[in-house]
Amino acid sequence: MEQYALVIIGGGPAGLAAAATAAQNSVECLLIDEQASPGGQIYRATKTIPQQRAKLLGPDYQYGRRLVEQFNNSGAGYLPSTTLWNLNRQREIGILRNGQAALMRAKHVIIASGAMERPVPFPGWTLPGVMTAGAGQILLKSSGLVPDEGVVLAGTGPLLLLLAWQYQQAGVAIHAILDMASSGNLWHALPHLPRALLAHHYILKGLRYQSELKRAGVPFYKGVSDLHAVGGDALQAVEFKQGNNKKRIETPLLLTHFGVIPDSHLSRCAGCEHYWDSSQLCWRPVIDEWGNSSINGITIIGDGAGIGGAVAARHAGRLAGFESAHTLGKMSATQRDKAAKEDSKWMADDLHIRPFLEKLFRPSSALLNEPKDETLICRCEEINASTIRSAIRDGHKDVNQVKFLTRCGMGPCQGRQCDNSVSQLVAHELGTDTVIAGGYRIRPPVRPLTIEQLAALKCGEAEQ
Ligand SMILES: Cc1cc2nc3c(=O)[nH]c(=O)nc-3n(C[C@H](O)[C@H](O)[C@H](O)COP(=O)(O)OP(=O)(O)OC[C@H]3O[C@@H](n4cnc5c(N)ncnc54)[C@H](O)[C@@H]3O)c2cc1C
Repeated sequence: MEQYALVIIGGGPAGLAAAATAAQNSVECLLIDEQASPGGQIYRATKTIPQQRAKLLGPDYQYGRRLVEQFNNSGAGYLPSTTLWNLNRQREIGILRNGQAALMRAKHVIIASGAMERPVPFPGWTLPGVMTAGAGQILLKSSGLVPDEGVVLAGTGPLLLLLAWQYQQAGVAIHAILDMASSGNLWHALPHLPRALLAHHYILKGLRYQSELKRAGVPFYKGVSDLHAVGGDALQAVEFKQGNNKKRIETPLLLTHFGVIPDSHLSRCAGCEHYWDSSQLCWRPVIDEWGNSSINGITIIGDGAGIGGAVAARHAGRLAGFESAHTLGKMSATQRDKAAKEDSKWMADDLHIRPFLEKLFRPSSALLNEPKDETLICRCEEINASTIRSAIRDGHKDVNQVKFLTRCGMGPCQGRQCDNSVSQLVAHELGTDTVIAGGYRIRPPVRPLTIEQLAALKCGEAEQ
């Protein structure tokens, strides 16, 4: 097994900042990322993208180049196109690179694996022609691909609005934006507005996107519910309710988005303690102000620790970089505290916006907890809500019992797509809390690898 002082998983703003900070403070570190180039979700392909495309993605995206340059100049090691499929509490790491599995070990591990879009099952969500907004944005950033026959965007959350604005800059025909936030959300968000104004640039940005889209004549539908994607072999139309009125829009492409949640499978696989955050509606790791988890030597930062956005992720990365330099004997506690002062302050300021956004863009309870019986919840094993409800009514009272009985969460994605939905469905059916219903127990591999790749692993042998 190769041994490292510090291994960082994830090359987004959190991981890049952590790696650069640690390396600048004489820590020998290695950053592993499954993407081919550094940047993570927000700054995907930032070094290779043509100038014109970078411009239409907006100024936030362009900031990524600076961060990537700092990382490149820091002397940190880098393994791109490498997927991590295991991490345990002994900090043994399983990777897959060029089709070959390998093991390594680190004295300190920083998990900066980011967020994923919240999977929300609704009728027709598995039809070809229905994707997430994040997937649409990945195609735009990495390949310059945009819908050529128009698109309907539906759901809730800032990314939906951002993508609509980016598509509009790229000349894409947006048939409609269906806003699925409940009408009461604004009232629940208002008490958080004064604090949110401390990070008012986010609000101004959102208002600007909305007004530019409206000026361009993009139809907005507010208070949308009961979304159906309809079609035979592929999507033909989107049906929905606005108030009591039923509506239908013909479209070959529907992109949905219901906010982002921490991609917590790696930290749960390692055995770090987690809790259900009833505001962000997701599992989050228990961490301290430096990102240290409940397991010694494993730190969790960025959106993987709780949704805070790219700026907060960058500051959290720097804090974790200083902390790892301290725990690895390169900095005293006093030096760490002095170096980290500015970042702690900036991070706290930036996070002021979060409670407001969480309330404003909260998906409705009906959407999350009451999927229709015939809707597929686990896409991999093709298990619908009715099968899960039957298991619950047969007396299975936690998600892992439901998993054993129905095989939901046992497919190639290992439950990343249905984990939250099953937890919420079980809790709702039993009239209990999601914490009591529990989350899936996560086992390796957290990313797919073949038996052949696993069998070829040279356990216990030193690698060249
Ligand atoms: C699809 C999507 C698009 C987004 N687009 C925007 C946007 O345009 N603007 C914006 O402000 N915010 C956007 N966000 C939110 C944004 O991702 C975060 O606020 C910010 O990027 C968080 O930074 P991070 O470093 O924590 O994680 P990320 O930037 O997500 O970086 C995590 C990195 O870890 C890697 N990784 C994860 N698991 C593994 C593994 N098992 N093995 C190897 N590598 C792994 C990922 O490939 C990724 O490169 C988006 C989120 C998503 C999910």
